[in-house]
Amino acid sequence: FILFISQRRSNAKLKTANEKVKTQNQELEDLNNTKDKFFSIISHDLKGPLNSLTSFSGLLMNHTSSLSTEEIQMLAKDLDKSLKNLFALLENLLQWSRSQTGNIEFKAEEIDLTEMLNENKKLLEKQADNKNIQIEVKNTKSVKAKAHPNSITTVIRNLLSNAIKFTEDGGQIKMGVVEEENQFVVKIADNGVGMPKEVASKIFRLDTKHSTQGTAKEKGTGLGLILCKEFVEKNGGQIWVKSEEGKGTIFSFSIPK
Ligand code: ADP
Repeated sequence: FILFISQRRSNAKLKTANEKVKTQNQELEDLNNTKDKFFSIISHDLKGPLNSLTSFSGLLMNHTSSLSTEEIQMLAKDLDKSLKNLFALLENLLQWSRSQTGNIEFKAEEIDLTEMLNENKKLLEKQADNKNIQIEVKNTKSVKAKAHPNSITTVIRNLLSNAIKFTEDGGQIKMGVVEEENQFVVKIADNGVGMPKEVASKIFRLDTKHSTQGTAKEKGTGLGLILCKEFVEKNGGQIWVKSEEGKGTIFSFSIPK
């Protein structure tokens, strides 16, 4: 009887071990699939800005003498825009890949969320000025939270840059932090183009990656919000969106206390 019991126990143990291996294999397969999808997306997304850079440089090289100063200035402006897009994309890719390979230690430090919102406002003010968009930070006093500074500032920068991108000339953006019992909630609201419900449900996932052009035809890759979700979750928080087509969008994310 004792032998029978111990055999049943070791069979059960073996079953649990097998199930564990199965789950680990499934996790590895999922990770591999994500990696494949990610690489195909990157190669596709890099092609766009690189193609326009090549045609700009071709134009400059072969037609300099026939181009007016105004035309050269316009080309230089477009070149600058494409390069900035490329840098923003590379920055997001680099951070995402670092976080996937565990190369970012999401160590929490004391941060001032009001200060962070103001810093990002300053950083993107020129972009907003170009579209006559006003950015307002609601909080006047500092709001101290504990989170990983670089990843949270990357999330704010991506959300604010999107708010500018998807708001028409003359629009308004409001940012603020609300303190709740167990968490801080950072909100970035715009009165821009908004998005339909079916789009809002896709934007945080790699397998349904979605991207549309901004109101001034700014191009995107659909990776910014995937990175935002990753970073917010690494800080123990959540990210969500409320949007109405033609009215505007509010992105919110939480940081636990
Ligand atoms: P990208 O902006 O490079 O396309 P994101 O992941 O940042 O990538 O955003 C994905 C998509 O979500 C955008 O292309 C757009 O369709 C939608 N979106 C994001 N932010 C906003 C916003 N503030 N207002 C309206 N649509 C938005």
